[in-house]
Amino acid sequence: MPEPCQTCKGVGSLTCPALLEAEAAFPALVERILADLESYGLGFLRGDVSDFRRVRAETNRSREPYWIRTPNGDGTYRTGIDPVSAELKARFS
Ligand SMILES: [Zn+2]
Repeated sequence: MPEPCQTCKGVGSLTCPALLEAEAAFPALVERILADLESYGLGFLRGDVSDFRRVRAETNRSREPYWIRTPNGDGTYRTGIDPVSAELKARFS
């Protein structure tokens, strides 16, 4: 999570430099999204999910399953791999 900016303290005022910078970058971002959608999205929209499955498998193989913190009831926590996330990672890798 990024730190809230110094100017608006995360409120997002109209003079916030971070907000103005994001707004200025927005048209180029939309152009890129449109180009990507035309390049890669048409097959998917027509029902060909082979690229989607290949990329999802690559992404799942390269990341750790999610970790969860579970309260012990005495103010302490134990940390472990989320079994649901581990199962989904195995199924979709
Ligand atoms: Zn700001």
